[in-house]
Amino acid sequence: MKYIGITTTVPSEVLIAAGYTPLDLNNIFITADDISKYIKIAEEDGFPASYCSWIKGIYGVCLSHDIKEIVAVVSGDCSNSIVLAELLADRGIIVHPFEFPISRDYLSIKSSIDKFMNHFNVSLEEVESVRKSLSPLRDKIIELDKLSYTECKVKGFENHLYQVCMSDFNLDYKKFELEIDEKLIEIRDRESLPFSLRIGYVGVPPITTDLYDFIESQNACVVYNEVQREFSMHRHSDCRDVYEQYLLFTYPYDTASRISEIKKQIEERKIDAIVYYNQSFCYRSVQYLLMKKSIDIPILHIEGDKSVNVDARTKLRLEAFIDMVKDRKLFKNCSE
Ligand code: SF4
Repeated sequence: MKYIGITTTVPSEVLIAAGYTPLDLNNIFITADDISKYIKIAEEDGFPASYCSWIKGIYGVCLSHDIKEIVAVVSGDCSNSIVLAELLADRGIIVHPFEFPISRDYLSIKSSIDKFMNHFNVSLEEVESVRKSLSPLRDKIIELDKLSYTECKVKGFENHLYQVCMSDFNLDYKKFELEIDEKLIEIRDRESLPFSLRIGYVGVPPITTDLYDFIESQNACVVYNEVQREFSMHRHSDCRDVYEQYLLFTYPYDTASRISEIKKQIEERKIDAIVYYNQSFCYRSVQYLLMKKSIDIPILHIEGDKSVNVDARTKLRLEAFIDMVKDRKLFKNCSE
């Protein structure tokens, strides 16, 4: 197989049409038994301690897994990814650029994707054919997500995991679809989870993957994973073509677009409170200021750095926050 590393969701339909198997480097990093070994490689090569661990992790993964080619998102992700691509190119890795346009309009994304297709020498027909083949899998992931908030049958971490896997379709979309088929049969058969509070998770996927279990230990459940859900392209069937699909993807564009979608989901999923996750040293921490101003349910800002475990201080803050939201909900119900 001809693998190509990706650092975030890009129009993978183009890569598959060009004969590549996209490989999300974040997924290799975060599913490792010991993520610190990848961070260590980056720090030994001179990355500062005060730098995003996702970037350091991807760098370590590329060097230790002999990754030969990657797609670098040079606009619409973050400036750290641009420098990362420069460093990896310097280490001999072939870097294929892709840019999400600054302006979120059809002609701009069309021009970016056309450039990407020309670069890989594939036609729109070939790309649309791959998009069509991916539709059944996307529909099944949408169903799994729906079962998390309509019937509370999917745990927050499960939902998170299956949706992040949609960036590279777990390396084989046909096999992944069969896996989801089996998972859905098992999930539909489950009893609903007995949680009293519905939490929305907003922000980049967490390094602290035990966050979901901790929230559940407080009798609350994550029923919305914002960015992870965007990776699964859940509006795909409403889109007339690949351009529209990546135009409606909110993550690479302005904060206002994300906020408007988050507000819609708060209503739809009857979310009681938001946990806003931020990676240490990430520019997105400042986006929280805009979120806080526009979202009118309780919102807690937490941060993760290098550990996959939620630290003691964050646990205390989450505990106090969830207690407060429970009291607020009880008071609201009593006074209605
Ligand atoms: S967490 Fe923030 S700084 Fe790190 S790669 Fe993602 S967007 Fe960039």
